[in-house]
Amino acid sequence: MEKICVAVRVRPPVSLETSGGVFWKVEDNRVSLHRQHDTPVSGTSYAFDHVFDETCSNARVYELLTKDIIHAAVEGFNGTVFAYGQTSSGKTFTMNGSADNPGVISLGVKDIFDAIQMMSNREFLVRVSYMEIYNEEINDLLAVENQKLQIHESLEHGVFVAGLREEIVNSAEQVLKLIESGEVNRHFGETNMNVRSSRSHTIFRMVIESKGKDNDSSSDSSSTDAIRVSVLNLVDLAGSERIAKTGADGVRLKEGKHINKSLMALGNVINKLSDGVKQRGHIPYRDSKLTRILQPALGGNAKTSIICTIAPEEDHIEETKGTLQFASRAK
Ligand code: ADP
Ligand code: MG
Repeated sequence: MEKICVAVRVRPPVSLETSGGVFWKVEDNRVSLHRQHDTPVSGTSYAFDHVFDETCSNARVYELLTKDIIHAAVEGFNGTVFAYGQTSSGKTFTMNGSADNPGVISLGVKDIFDAIQMMSNREFLVRVSYMEIYNEEINDLLAVENQKLQIHESLEHGVFVAGLREEIVNSAEQVLKLIESGEVNRHFGETNMNVRSSRSHTIFRMVIESKGKDNDSSSDSSSTDAIRVSVLNLVDLAGSERIAKTGADGVRLKEGKHINKSLMALGNVINKLSDGVKQRGHIPYRDSKLTRILQPALGGNAKTSIICTIAPEEDHIEETKGTLQFASRAK
């Protein structure tokens, strides 16, 4: 299997408060904590496949961490891209983007349809679904009536979410409209972190099916005749912050426990996958709904990128270290 590609992205500061004398410094593919006057703090330097500073655009993140996966998906390979990080660190900005800075998902969707257009010798069928996992319950973001969906497994279909709506789509515009309508259904909650934080994992999925066209007269018919099916997951994970920081009780505490459990399960699965095949052993996909759903496109010959987003502010240093440790384990 190919190595999992791991990147860290530092978002620009959102408040003007002084940094209190420490800051995260990005040099090439390394990020480290520095004191004023540029002295590195020992034990806080981390290297990844890519590190993006605050000036980096979504387009560049897309180029380096998603584009290859998108093109491989059109060729029949499964793939998954994650945004991981604490609330307010830039996950949704990276995946969904803003009005003038389209995110990884819309750039990817456009590329898929462009790539399909170029492959004139194959016929494509593209389906999308959009779901959230909230408190270990799966809800359909394309059909609000589909709540608490169950995961099933069959010989024919492998692991799948029963009852999840799949829309057949023919253009990028159509997909982006569906996402927009799904966005309205996402669960949000206020926390003490003073932002509308996302408490659910959202999985945007495209299933790309293709077969060689009948009128294709190429002599190499065996390769064009085969039906290819690939699954592509673009995942905006729930905030990775520890429960204590959000001052949670009741509903928030329950959410936090579910989030921590599934992010830990994801970390364990990715950690196993990033080990060599020989030492790998059992991969604990069944430990959470998140890993179970992603299983078909995680591991095997699937391509995976993880974009870990971090906040530059000093009061987020402990969470940032937690994110960098998660990222380090995934390498
Ligand atoms: P998360 O989804 O991790 O909770 P958001 O993506 O909502 O965080 O980002 C928090 C805020 O910071 C938003 O207002 C967002 O527009 C802004 N932001 C995040 N990353 C960037 C970036 N790289 N460049 C500019 N603004 C950003
Ligand atoms: Mg978000």
